[in-house]
Amino acid sequence: MADFTNLQPLPGADANGRLIIAGPCSAESAEQMLTVARALAAGGVRVLRAGVWKPRTYPGGFEGCGEVALQWLADAKAATGMLTATEVATPEHLHLALDAGVDIIWIGARTAADPFAVQLLADALAALPVKPPVLVKNPVSPDPDLWIGALQRIHDAGVQRLGAIHRGFTTYGNSIYRNRPRWSIPFELRRRIPALPIICDPSHIAGRTELVATVAGEAIQMGFDGLIIEAHPNPQCALSDSRQQLTPPQLCELLSHLRRNSSAEPAHAQLLRQYRQHIDQIDHQLIDLLAQRMNISAEIGQIKKQHDLSAMQPQRYAAMLADRCAAGADLGLSPDLLTKLWTLIHEESVRRQLQILNH
Ligand code: PEP
Ligand code: MN
Repeated sequence: MADFTNLQPLPGADANGRLIIAGPCSAESAEQMLTVARALAAGGVRVLRAGVWKPRTYPGGFEGCGEVALQWLADAKAATGMLTATEVATPEHLHLALDAGVDIIWIGARTAADPFAVQLLADALAALPVKPPVLVKNPVSPDPDLWIGALQRIHDAGVQRLGAIHRGFTTYGNSIYRNRPRWSIPFELRRRIPALPIICDPSHIAGRTELVATVAGEAIQMGFDGLIIEAHPNPQCALSDSRQQLTPPQLCELLSHLRRNSSAEPAHAQLLRQYRQHIDQIDHQLIDLLAQRMNISAEIGQIKKQHDLSAMQPQRYAAMLADRCAAGADLGLSPDLLTKLWTLIHEESVRRQLQILNH
């Protein structure tokens, strides 16, 4: 494992030492960029974000305005004195962005998941005499090693002003989030690379405007080093991510709320709160998994009904309990606890299947 001991601070941090980056998901026009930049700069935001090349899930979607939009960022920078940040996915993007005066670049979640693409960017960075600051978003899949590997490739290229962006992980199935936060993964990153700044992207975690402030507040309370938030002068008309963008006044209100609430909390209280929030997240995951398990058990109930099988299958039950106790023992969990838990879970499962069989 490379050591990350020579990291240098990222530019653009505010008076509280937090890096706040805000701006539209995509740069759409010169006017849009100027309007949003002026409003955000007035609210104390020092770094302006905008996507120029957008990786879309489906072909035919809005893929960004491309190179022409770099000039809009440069104009907004000249008008406000803000630093600018954009996403790059290829060496060509990197060179175009830097030539146009972009100050901070980030690697998006889809690109970060591809070691070939990250290595191409790392090689291009290695060849530059002056390295720009680089932020690496977490890869779409919840794999801390893939994230750390991407960070390591960029660091090995000589980038010392390096940071990570937590933007959550692709979900399948129901979730209140667009991308589940799975806070334990950025915590693991922090444990493994303590000197690395990690900022949170509540916009892509939340996926909807109403939830952005909650996620942003949680992230700050949990000790993240800053935020990257999407803001658009007219979110409903945004060409990408229209559901999750804030208006500049909403964003400025959120930032001043966060500033007011960041009182000096003793270190032990902060740690305790972080651990408790972590436990809350894990419990919510357990509830989510329990609901998924019950749904599958109901599907099994349907099959048993069709084939006239009984709900209770003693052999299956005994084998399941033995398996769960053995798996738990490997992780230091007592067989007594596991037997109690799975007896309860199994009883509920059988009760639900009986309802189906008797219906
Ligand atoms: C973005 O920041 O607009 C973006 C495309 O994000 P992500 O790479 O996290 O999906
Ligand atoms: Mn976006």
